[in-house]
Amino acid sequence: MEDYLIRVIPKNFNFRAFGVMLTKTVEEVRQLQGLSPIATAALGRAMAGACLLSADLKFGRIFLQIRGDGPLEEILAEATASGALRGMVKNPAVFLPLDSKKLPVGKAVGKKGFINVIKDFGLKDLYQSSIELLTGEIAEDVAYYLTVSEQIPSACALGVLVGKEGEVLQAGGYLIQKLPETIEEEVHYLEEKLSKLPPITTLLSEGLSIERILEQIFGEIEILEKRKIYFCCSCSEGRVERVLIALGERELEEILKEGKPVEVTCEFCKKVYLIPLERIKKLKDLISMKG
Ligand SMILES: [Zn+2]
Repeated sequence: MEDYLIRVIPKNFNFRAFGVMLTKTVEEVRQLQGLSPIATAALGRAMAGACLLSADLKFGRIFLQIRGDGPLEEILAEATASGALRGMVKNPAVFLPLDSKKLPVGKAVGKKGFINVIKDFGLKDLYQSSIELLTGEIAEDVAYYLTVSEQIPSACALGVLVGKEGEVLQAGGYLIQKLPETIEEEVHYLEEKLSKLPPITTLLSEGLSIERILEQIFGEIEILEKRKIYFCCSCSEGRVERVLIALGERELEEILKEGKPVEVTCEFCKKVYLIPLERIKKLKDLISMKG
């Protein structure tokens, strides 16, 4: 089954909701990057979070960065308006023992740190906002970010189910947001409902799709939009060259002195770029021309 993102309104409640299923994409990234189970769970949740945050986008991309004091150190996830998704974790081999049969994502991310959201609408300016981590469990942090930073009271659940061989069995999540017309009783209803709902990983393990899970919360729902989600990396030789140019003239001079072509591996898709010395020389000349 293809991965997808849905935009939903409940028939009988004043909320809006988004749901994502991304099992295939997270498994693809796990295989590409050789992620440990805990890194898979954490990155899968971050990628689901980025997808849900991108649900409103008509153009451009959203970039979710989570930096904590746990052993994973940093997680990046990027989702575009057209459904392309990628992500990476600084330390993909981190191993932590299960904590009451669960992968301790909060521990791996750490509680001290921040969550940073960058929105790139393809215009000149980027919209950027950052807050401190609440739990490091990622779903709570995304909801807290939206509630505090964007003043949209939100509830979020993200789940990645990892099998015995480390393979991704299920990955998905939902985001529910209050609307200006939402009344107090509806908020109470939702809080009560969510507090009684089993953890999302449990629901996913029972084979429930994200639509069914949202129906368990709201009853009848209407799907306004369904967007295909897929792994896609935006790296290119041009981007690698821009990074090299940013290193500056002196650094490139050093590379030329060493006399070895530059090998750059994209951390998202593991593609290797080999930049020959004559190209480095051209890039250096480009800088001195500008300077
Ligand atoms: Zn790449």
